[in-house]
Amino acid sequence: MPVEDHDLAQIVIETVGALVVVLDREARIQRWNAACEHATGYERDEVLGRPFWFLVPPEERAGVEAGFSRLVARDFPNRNTNHWVTKDGARRLVAWSNTALLDERGEVRVVIATGLDLSEQIRAEEALRRQATRLEALAEASRVFASGLDYKTTLDTVARRLSELIGDGALIRVVSPDSAWLVPVAVYHPDPERAALRRRGIQQAPQRTNEGMTARVLQGRRTLRIPHLTLDVVHGEMKPEYWPYLEGVTSLMMAPLEHRRHVFGHITLMRDAGGAPYTSDDEALLDDLAHRAAQAIENARLYGEAQAAVAARDEFLSIASHELRTPLTALRLALENMRRVASRDALERLPAQYVERVLATAERQGQRLEKLVSGLLDVSRIHMGRLELDFEEVELGEAVQEALGAVEDEAAQSGSEIRVTGSPARGFWDRLRVSQVVTNLLANAVKYGAGKAVEVEFGPRADRAFLAVRDHGIGIDPSDQRQIFERFERAVSSRNYGGLGLGLYIVKRIVEAHGGTIAVESKPGEGSTFRVELPQRPSVSVDREQDPART
Ligand code: ADP
Repeated sequence: MPVEDHDLAQIVIETVGALVVVLDREARIQRWNAACEHATGYERDEVLGRPFWFLVPPEERAGVEAGFSRLVARDFPNRNTNHWVTKDGARRLVAWSNTALLDERGEVRVVIATGLDLSEQIRAEEALRRQATRLEALAEASRVFASGLDYKTTLDTVARRLSELIGDGALIRVVSPDSAWLVPVAVYHPDPERAALRRRGIQQAPQRTNEGMTARVLQGRRTLRIPHLTLDVVHGEMKPEYWPYLEGVTSLMMAPLEHRRHVFGHITLMRDAGGAPYTSDDEALLDDLAHRAAQAIENARLYGEAQAAVAARDEFLSIASHELRTPLTALRLALENMRRVASRDALERLPAQYVERVLATAERQGQRLEKLVSGLLDVSRIHMGRLELDFEEVELGEAVQEALGAVEDEAAQSGSEIRVTGSPARGFWDRLRVSQVVTNLLANAVKYGAGKAVEVEFGPRADRAFLAVRDHGIGIDPSDQRQIFERFERAVSSRNYGGLGLGLYIVKRIVEAHGGTIAVESKPGEGSTFRVELPQRPSVSVDREQDPART
């Protein structure tokens, strides 16, 4: 071969992307190009002179040897595909084209194998396939997630689908209204027995939002993956209450549920012993699915809330019409009675108490109507942000006295004795509104007080004034204690107790408009205590001319 050709061949062999190996008749490596070094991790010096077999996995060796023998027997060219075991133990699939060079006697002198490494191609194909499966799963999950609007069904569907797509157990928990706890809302496992076990386990291991992995996921807003969940990790990272819950779990991921940059819960996926550890692909899929699940769950929750609000409004309308009709009917009857006896003669013959009684009824019912209507008006004012306050110096004791006058009749009717203890407490407040607050609380205490004594206490406390109204009546279930301050919310049936469920809503808004607080403590059957605190000077912004600090 002329020198130039030899050099040219040398350059081509070294720079071509293909693997080029030259073997002698005994399959010992004579040449080993850069592509081979790159693919196997073996340097030229490490392989030259060694029989080629050491690169072939044992189970493929017989086939490769047979192919080589054929080449040596001058049956060439041929092709074959086999694996190479690289220096670090990985396998690469190579497609070979083989040929041979003969010596002057016509015997095979060397075998030249040119190979294409298929591993990259296979890897790329696999990645594409995985990507396609993932997109399919995402599209399908989005459809399934969005198909139901009911909150509970949506949660169950999400948990089941995640378990099917990423395996095995799925658990969804959401942050409690006070942000302190995580409440389990869906548990799924394909094995019903395990699902039941997990459900029981999770009840016994309440989770705080500011602890452990949960805190990391909620605050970091990123998916957490523990591919190998060993006992060491469990015992090191989790509280003992969780150990039974995680029994048999060997891999774990936790993804935040985030909607409009607000994390409202998280999803945990747990793979049981026997399953492969979660990979970064699983993590990416969970990331995407958790994002979609969060939208679906939030939509379902909002829809549920909207439905509940509509139902509450409908119920309110029916209660309101009933409440308004009762005094109207009584008023109409009183007027009819008067009309019946309205001639001068008849009037003169009537006993004075009769006229007095009918007029008192008409008056009372008129006041009741006025109260109901002004309650409605207050609500709409508050709703539109137009609750205006007239600040002046007020003595809380005076407001209490006024309220006592307002509930006198009801208290006499129910038999509740009202005991007042207090010391003077002054502040810059809206006189009428503060007296409205006390009246409402007292009226409720009498109404729900089961005829037992009602205690009112008030006085100064640091730079604030406090008022406590305690009754010993029916009390309020803990689950209702938050709602009763909302519009239209009532904890009792309208059949047993009249009322629109607006009083406490208005009271709370008035107190808050003064910069104060209101809270309730109650035990069903034992009574309730409502506590109000008002700052002596409201810190809320008030109009210049109304600002007591400037007058
Ligand atoms: P209303 O009394 O007109 O229903 P409120 O807004 O004043 O409306 O009260 C809301 C609900 O709170 C009531 O329906 C009742 O269930 C509960 N509630 C309020 N005060 C008391 C109390 N002192 N004892 C027991 N329950 C009460």
